[in-house]
Amino acid sequence: SLQAAREYVHEVYETVKKRNPGEYEFHQAVKEIFDSLVPVFAKHPKYKENAILERISEPERLISFRVPWVDDQGKVQVNRGFRVQFNSAIGPYKGGLRFHPSVNASIIKFLGFEQIFKNSLTGQPIGGGKGGSDFDPKGKSDNEVMRFTQSFMTELSKYIGPDVDVPAGDIGVGGREIGYMYGQYKRMRGGSEAGVLTGKGIGYGGSLARTEATGYGCVYFVKEMLSDKGLSFNGSTVIVSGSGNVSIYAMKKAMELGAKVVACSDSNGYVYDPNGIDLETVIQLKEVERKRISEYAKARPTAEYYEGCTGIWTIPCDIALPCATQNEIDDQSAKILIANGVKAIGEGANMPSTLEAIDLFLANGVLFGPAKAANAGGVSVSALEMAQNSMRLAWTFEEVDAKLHDIMTNIYQSSMKAAEEYGHPGNLVVGANIAGFLKVADAMLAQGVI
Ligand code: GLU
Repeated sequence: SLQAAREYVHEVYETVKKRNPGEYEFHQAVKEIFDSLVPVFAKHPKYKENAILERISEPERLISFRVPWVDDQGKVQVNRGFRVQFNSAIGPYKGGLRFHPSVNASIIKFLGFEQIFKNSLTGQPIGGGKGGSDFDPKGKSDNEVMRFTQSFMTELSKYIGPDVDVPAGDIGVGGREIGYMYGQYKRMRGGSEAGVLTGKGIGYGGSLARTEATGYGCVYFVKEMLSDKGLSFNGSTVIVSGSGNVSIYAMKKAMELGAKVVACSDSNGYVYDPNGIDLETVIQLKEVERKRISEYAKARPTAEYYEGCTGIWTIPCDIALPCATQNEIDDQSAKILIANGVKAIGEGANMPSTLEAIDLFLANGVLFGPAKAANAGGVSVSALEMAQNSMRLAWTFEEVDAKLHDIMTNIYQSSMKAAEEYGHPGNLVVGANIAGFLKVADAMLAQGVI
């Protein structure tokens, strides 16, 4: 029964909390998944009988290591590196590397746990992993970033490989960092293994459309949610938090589809440009000059800059795309968005809404595209990059973009189908979690107790 399933899931959740004390982000990600799975456990005793929930919430491996490097002043610095190899039931571990001062075991485990279900949803043969470091790239010179990433890869290289574990970028890790890490890996292995990292440069094994993939994919996903309700991006007002790789290409695609994007942000504050954000200015500031978004207001007289990260959600909009970081929309921000008439949310970042915010959106009939589904475009094209590397060929931008579009449509449809089948029609949180879970759980069952 549902009640018995609920009690069982709760019991396992309590064990996870006890085993991982103080790791609140990890607890939050586990709770969201576990709650969604109640109808699955009510229907199929085999998963409980085989302790799938107990096994899936325990990483296959968590690696933590010292990253020593020398800064420009000649001083020795020490950071901590991580890689969680969470689940390999359906393929090699796959997931990004995050370089940000907030990185710790809890953050890496929440991200790695979510990656299992996201990667499963893409329909590609990739398991779940994640890694990173508490290194802060902000204000570091290019040489410092290179020395740090080389030291990081010197240790990480022992644990990864094209058929074992394939890292990519995330916050603080873009094309530059992947390039340095790929160079160091190749040097240590003494040969080219292009499929060991994704997000590589186009000239050395990267895939066209990988840079755009997460942002484009998020907009493709939201487009599906909207069109089911007879709505579209065309003529809508959109807010996209963040101003990194995900945010920039979410803004670009939303604009291409006829939306007006009026605000974006970074970790210090946000800019409101009622005439519409000028993307070239954002790209120049953030990607080329590596400056803060506050500079945008100096370059564009129509724009205003505000300190702080939550104010952005007080701007009235039709569609909000949180593309910055975890827990950037709490219940207070959700209430304001709802009061201002928001129609749809598409999560470009990982876990940008708190559990309370999600409940408010769902209860108030706001279309809600959860991160595991809506931001799966990045890792999907990473899997396509792996495929191209294996085949030693390169697809055109149009080919990759068309495959990405298909994948996002499939994710939407399979999530809607699972939601309907398990008694929560229209609830994409439940649908995405169940659809992602079933494929991994069945692969685990088939492979025995491992
Ligand atoms: N960091 C991205 C994510 O959260 C991409 C991972 C990848 O391409 O492997 O899914």
